[in-house]
Amino acid sequence: LNDFWNDDDQELANIDVLENCVNCENISAAQRLECDSIIRTKGTPQICFRPEYLTVSDLVKQQWCEQQLVYSLDPGIYLIRAPPGMVVDIEETPEQKLVKKKGSDIHFQRELEIQVPIQVNIETKEDDWGVKFLNLQFAVQSFYNGNRLAREIPVFGVPFDKDVFVYGIIDELQYNLNEYTVIITELKTRRNSFPPKQGQIRKDKYQVSLYAQLFNDLVEGRFSKELMAAKLQLNINAQFSKSVMKHITQSRINSANKIHTLGALIDAVLTQVQAMPPVHFAKVEYIHQETKQVISVVDFCLDFQSLAEQYSRHIEWWLAKRGTAGVEVEDCWKCSYCLFSEFCEWRKVMAERATKEAYRTKCVT
Ligand code: SF4
Repeated sequence: LNDFWNDDDQELANIDVLENCVNCENISAAQRLECDSIIRTKGTPQICFRPEYLTVSDLVKQQWCEQQLVYSLDPGIYLIRAPPGMVVDIEETPEQKLVKKKGSDIHFQRELEIQVPIQVNIETKEDDWGVKFLNLQFAVQSFYNGNRLAREIPVFGVPFDKDVFVYGIIDELQYNLNEYTVIITELKTRRNSFPPKQGQIRKDKYQVSLYAQLFNDLVEGRFSKELMAAKLQLNINAQFSKSVMKHITQSRINSANKIHTLGALIDAVLTQVQAMPPVHFAKVEYIHQETKQVISVVDFCLDFQSLAEQYSRHIEWWLAKRGTAGVEVEDCWKCSYCLFSEFCEWRKVMAERATKEAYRTKCVT
């Protein structure tokens, strides 16, 4: 164990030894946590934390602060930095929880304005993904029925061929039949009534752009059910359970009575989805939680080139091709809202660097 601590370049084979260390009675709690975190981070973050798929929310958290994402995925990596014996509270405050609850209540109310969710019993993983495809089909079908709006639309796929499966739920799509266009909208609720900072807007634009990319991949035929099955360990030829079959039969999918498997359902849903136009425009709407008044709306044309660059950089981290990076100096205001600011390693290093820089500048002048 001491050898391990004294050598940063240990080979992966040592993970086997560390697994013994974690179960050893003779190490301290702090060492146990460090062992545990080394074992986990020696696999890629994707293998350790998201072996099947990433959610768009994971990537959005990463865009906000990658160091914060690491601490929230594995609080042990943060807690080990506190002095021994110190009780560290990393729970959200009641006020933060309330803000989140109000936000999700407003989203749910919005959904109820146009549709009423129903409960479907699922028995298998294939059922679960079948229901996601049914929800996607429901949204697209509603456009063909003459509706202009669809809300809570699931989207999934492997963006930019990066070999990582991603899943998310779009807040709203607006379909204009005459112009044959679709606009994607993300709703954000705010406790304060003033407009968001640029850092917040950048994060929200990234989120909605990822949804748009996933949607366009489905519409433009870049989705592979075989790849999905391999990534999620699904059997696309397994029969759905009775409950899911009932909903497929009641749907307005062509030849619904002949669909019994996830593979067949995916083919049928994609045929419908691929008659839709791709999304090129997006907007983020900011609403005040108390008054429900619109604070501001950011309209923008989607830039998939810069999205690809940002996304690729994020995926490099998930595949352990680079280390963790926290916020840049100009975004350090984010640290004052962060649950992990007290012992954050990144913040400490940045503060030391800033102090040295200030000292150097003073000496030069
Ligand atoms: Fe990121 Fe700042 Fe929080 Fe550290 S303190 S995790 S750098 S936001």
